[in-house]
Amino acid sequence: MPASLRNEQGEYVPAPRANERGHRPCSTPTGTRLTITRQCTGNCDRWSVRYTGTVNTSRDICADVCTDVCADVFAYGPAGYRDLMAQLGQPAYRAQQLAGWLWTHGAADYDEMSNLPAVLREQLAEVAVLRRGNVLVRQESTDGTRKYLVQFADGVAVECVGIPDEPGTLPTQQRSPKHLTVCVSSQAGCALGCSFCATGRAGFTRDLLPGEIAEQIRLVAADFGVRAGNVVVMGQGEPFLNFDAVVEGLRIANGSDSQGGLGIGARHITVSTAGIVNGIRRFSALPEQFTLAVSLHSAVQATRDRLMPGVSGQPLSALADALIDYREQSGRRASLEYAVVSGVNDTPAEVDALCDFARRVHAHVNLIGINPIDRGCTGSGGGASAAPDIHATPAMQGAPGAPATTPTPAQRTTDAALRSVAATLRRSGIEVSIRRSRGADIDAACGQLAGRGRYGRPGADI
Ligand code: SF4
Repeated sequence: MPASLRNEQGEYVPAPRANERGHRPCSTPTGTRLTITRQCTGNCDRWSVRYTGTVNTSRDICADVCTDVCADVFAYGPAGYRDLMAQLGQPAYRAQQLAGWLWTHGAADYDEMSNLPAVLREQLAEVAVLRRGNVLVRQESTDGTRKYLVQFADGVAVECVGIPDEPGTLPTQQRSPKHLTVCVSSQAGCALGCSFCATGRAGFTRDLLPGEIAEQIRLVAADFGVRAGNVVVMGQGEPFLNFDAVVEGLRIANGSDSQGGLGIGARHITVSTAGIVNGIRRFSALPEQFTLAVSLHSAVQATRDRLMPGVSGQPLSALADALIDYREQSGRRASLEYAVVSGVNDTPAEVDALCDFARRVHAHVNLIGINPIDRGCTGSGGGASAAPDIHATPAMQGAPGAPATTPTPAQRTTDAALRSVAATLRRSGIEVSIRRSRGADIDAACGQLAGRGRYGRPGADI
């Protein structure tokens, strides 16, 4: 938060805006692709956001890129609301009031926050701009699954998915579902580059802010007309590479009604990682009982390195150690997500390795059938899955490591293949579930919806 909110006399002093700070003109040649750490310029030392884009202007790049991250209310979670109110000389209960307006009431403007003093509303509008997410695209599957492309203030758009009830108990068009799972993205794009993932092929754009993660949940729940019962961070991006913002976003989701949160129980919030070991260790130490899923997809190092090159530096042995420690420290066990790809990770050697790994870490295994992806889908940045059970539904491209520009259309995993792997696991004493992909008739595989356009890549305009 800006340190300059009050002068020595205790008077309120607005922080200078980014474009008033005299940044030097950018000398980077047009067309250069950069990854920039977008430091908060509000002197809060609180946030930095990695941002990737291609320079298409010789204008002052900082005015476009180094925005006042802390001057966006979505940069704050529950602890941030309290700090903000303290800085503004307000009593602590104002933080709950602000959170309630943001998340319970979905206020679009500070002027709606009728129980906040007018002067406070003006101050907030100055130091923590409120700009809600905008649903650019909404698709609904015949099974009731809905997929959304949500755009934020800087133009970045990410995918999220609402998965209602069980198929066959709807149609949702006629009534609200009894139960709703929301799958959210944690980053715009992803730097890990999994070979089967449209998001991975498109690369990384930027981290999402805490409020941008919570906003996906709020928008989806509002569209269904029910409170979300489960949240899975399994969409676009690797959540443990945006750890602090993800945790703050989930604390908004986990907050009770009286705290102005979204009222979702911690045990109903699952974070899925590709296997970032230090992130698992930090996650183990959180006080909340959030649950953990790991996208494994192969327990054979060479195969996993091909499928998921972004985590090839995190060996399976280190991953196993972290999962064992997670279980001991938290008292909970992780689940292993395993997308079955015929001829790739369902061979006897692969399934034996999966049995050994799952047994060693005491994990439940979720086997997943995949959604096919269209040839030529560039998947520019999206990744939320219609399946509530996989870290960015892998629209597996037949050959692992296939060039991103020439994907091979994957076929839907057959039930027989899934049942065969499940039977082997059960014979080995491993608990296993077969998860069904949802939304096969919409752009449900990773990055497909965003891939229809250039959404999610406003970084191309820095
Ligand atoms: S599967 Fe997940 S970690 Fe891998 S590239 Fe896609 S979004 Fe990133």
